[in-house]
Amino acid sequence: MIAARVAAVRERISRAAERAGRAGSEVRLVAVSKTHPAEAIREAFAAGVSDFGENKVQEAETKLPSLADLRAGGARWHMVGHLQTNKARKAAALFDVVHSVDDARLADRLEPAAARAGRVLDVLVQVDPAAQESKHGLSERELLPALEALRGRKAVRAVGLMGFPPLEDDPEELRPFFRRLRELRDAAVRDGLLVGRELSMGMSHDLEVAVEEGATLVRVGTAIFGTREA
Ligand SMILES: *Cc1c(COP(=O)(O)O)cnc(C)c1O
Repeated sequence: MIAARVAAVRERISRAAERAGRAGSEVRLVAVSKTHPAEAIREAFAAGVSDFGENKVQEAETKLPSLADLRAGGARWHMVGHLQTNKARKAAALFDVVHSVDDARLADRLEPAAARAGRVLDVLVQVDPAAQESKHGLSERELLPALEALRGRKAVRAVGLMGFPPLEDDPEELRPFFRRLRELRDAAVRDGLLVGRELSMGMSHDLEVAVEEGATLVRVGTAIFGTREA
């Protein structure tokens, strides 16, 4: 079941990449396993998925220890949800990548926590070019200072940008959002403010548009694990 869904998602990614003249291999699938049990994660891992996303530190804390063998086998854990500053220490120990850095103070906490854990944490800065009223990330104006605050850190590396667009029934409506995110990424790379080129955007219902616009990490939950309760 999960294996068939993973295959279908990979097919959607590679078709979209092809339309945009990109290689499907430029896009990494992050299977967002929030609310789903460890067994479902094992099934996806067996189907070749190596990157998993969770959106709550507490849930990850209870789920991940039983999956230590997967991590030893190459699985990587991504924090995709909002991260509270007071959870930074735990997050730095649990996750390999944090997609949702939306506050310079959060970076200030992640840095010593990652250093103490003896690791280098990859982070993405969450930005909201739509600057919605209920903000999901930094505004464009706030992005530059945040990237500058991250520059030169040792235990935290800013590798890209992440976007969580407003809800839209028609994914085509999100194209300008995704495109703007790519432009901001390109500008940040040009200015030496990012050490990678990652662009985390696209979910179950809009991943085609995101891949066409340059996504390198797509965060897919429902299309792989089914609908979530609660
Ligand atoms: C849940 C979640 C996803 C996955 O959403 P689906 O619509 O189930 O694919 C992606 N990104 C974030 C930040 C999420 O919280």
